Amino acid sequence: MAVLELRELGHTGLKVSCVGFGASPLGNVFGHVAESDAIASVYEAFHLGINFFDTSPFYGATLSESVLGKALQSLNVPRDQFIVSTKCGRYLEGFDFSAERVTRSIDESLARLKLDYVDILHCHDIEFGSLDQVVNETIPALQKLKEAGKVRFIGITGLPLSIFTYVLDRVAPGSVDVILSYCHYCINDSSLEDLIPYLKSKGVGIINASPFAMGLLTEGGPPEWHPASLELKSVCKAAAVHCKEKGKNISKLALQYSLRNKEISCVLVGMNSVGQVKENVSSALEISSAEKSVDDLLQEVDAILGPVKNRSWPSGIPQN
Ligand code: NAD
Repeated sequence: MAVLELRELGHTGLKVSCVGFGASPLGNVFGHVAESDAIASVYEAFHLGINFFDTSPFYGATLSESVLGKALQSLNVPRDQFIVSTKCGRYLEGFDFSAERVTRSIDESLARLKLDYVDILHCHDIEFGSLDQVVNETIPALQKLKEAGKVRFIGITGLPLSIFTYVLDRVAPGSVDVILSYCHYCINDSSLEDLIPYLKSKGVGIINASPFAMGLLTEGGPPEWHPASLELKSVCKAAAVHCKEKGKNISKLALQYSLRNKEISCVLVGMNSVGQVKENVSSALEISSAEKSVDDLLQEVDAILGPVKNRSWPSGIPQN
């Protein structure tokens, strides 16, 4: 039986499944999810070979962490069988990347997750804070959490790609282990690709989140709060309709596109039902047998998305 590929995550020694479970939907970020469905989704994911689960105290104002904690506990497997990342610095109340807040944050997250440690603690959406504070205060505080055994590896996340070079150029080598970029390696926006050689030179593992561009590349379309322009939304919708007319599903194409780049260790997909988990795992397993037909459809979809290629949306505060 085919199994999901495991990929090395930078220099961490972690081997993550190429498809990771994004748990923001468990915080009802994309609509209500019953707790039983959430738990069943995590169970299904784990048993289909997904070993990496990502959450944050921000998702659903801590709900995602709590539900993921229950779901992981109910797996009833040894702790080293799964990899968990959560985040710090972004909360319902706002952003706070101070050493005091992130140090308190990990204890709160561990309690909700019912874990003794997380594998990765990310500074969440750092473009909304002072990047100098992240370099000089937050990351050193996270190093102490690493020494205390609460965190195995440190990451940074955010939308503008420039945040990664800003931080990685200023921290001591090895103090940031991974980066999590989102919406920049999907069919409509592949701008992360140009940054990969730099990230590899810095020795950081690369996680690519949101292969469906947070719902833009799905038949159902994005949620109300999606920050894309109306033009971007309507062109993505046209691409989804084109795929449907050809008897194909744009989400399958989008996931297969993101997974093809093996320099990216993990593609994090937000999932909220057993059906979605099964569909996404089978899309990942089908890649090698589907290369030619994927290529043909990709070219057509690429042509539709051409006018909005690599267009994003503003995120964060002005930095000095
Ligand atoms: P995504 O692009 O993965 O899309 C998620 C949406 O697609 C959800 O509505 C989900 O229900 C739906 N979906 C999943 N499988 C589907 C399928 N087969 N067919 C149709 N629809 C399907 O966006 P995301 O959830 O925002 O990103 C994935 C994960 O990455 C998040 O859950 C989170 O863990 C992480 N993430 C982190 C950051 C950050 O740190 N700043 C930002 C974005 C995402």
